[in-house]
Amino acid sequence: MTDTGREARGEGREEVPHEEQREGVPTPRAPHPASRLLEATNVSRDYAMGPEAVHAVRGVTLSIAEGEYVAIVGPSGCGKSTLLNLLGAIDRPTGGSVSIGGRRVESMSDREATRFRLLHVGFVFQRFYLMPTLTARENVELPMAEAGVAKAERQGRARELLAYVGLAQRERHRPPQLSGGEQQRVAIARALANHPALLLADEPTGELDARTGAEVIALFDRLNRDGTTIVVVTHDEELARAVGRVVHMRDGVIVDEDRGPRS
Ligand code: ADP
Repeated sequence: MTDTGREARGEGREEVPHEEQREGVPTPRAPHPASRLLEATNVSRDYAMGPEAVHAVRGVTLSIAEGEYVAIVGPSGCGKSTLLNLLGAIDRPTGGSVSIGGRRVESMSDREATRFRLLHVGFVFQRFYLMPTLTARENVELPMAEAGVAKAERQGRARELLAYVGLAQRERHRPPQLSGGEQQRVAIARALANHPALLLADEPTGELDARTGAEVIALFDRLNRDGTTIVVVTHDEELARAVGRVVHMRDGVIVDEDRGPRS
């Protein structure tokens, strides 16, 4: 890769790329200027199931730098979603430690974790989870409203984000009036609303056909080029081929890792 390419992805430098505002482009903002944005150290998550415990994640160590685009792959039930939830402070580890931008997830209270996610982590889910009674723009505004952003500002940013995901003409549509691919793009715009340092996605193309899935893959690709760190759990081979680094899980542990075309 050229130095310019590395620079564009924020590699090889200590500063967070949030100063680089370009027209119409989301501006990732990291919680602190660490080049290692995510650090999971010997992290585990057990679920108590009656007398039995399910060891969903068993001692994973994983470090992700700002600007990386990482896919977590592996058979169903191997702990991918559990790990993603730990990496995004949705869930707390049973053992080990997770830090995001230098903040330790396991020492946050529930309230702190909720606020932290709202401001620093964007989530995209397989099933979109949009509010069906709100318009596309209102859905994108929601996290900003929760963060206390003034109405005029959040409307402006929601419009900008919908334009970024190619849905400027759909801002007044409600989710049932949108295709699956369009709904997922609204969900991606919503995930970007508060300038997250990190975008996490759990099977984002899982409900989409190949064509609309390809649109989502192209959008993630552009987002990563524009500086957003992305971690995605996927079964989609097309998506896994588009990333910079593929982490393979099996039975709750990382068993292999390889580099993709974006590395
Ligand atoms: P994957 O995303 O790779 O399909 P998951 O992380 O969803 O895997 O699940 C890993 C293991 O943990 C599975 O055996 C699953 O049944 C179990 N598991 C996941 N969530 C829970 C839960 N809330 N309670 C109990 N077991 C769970």
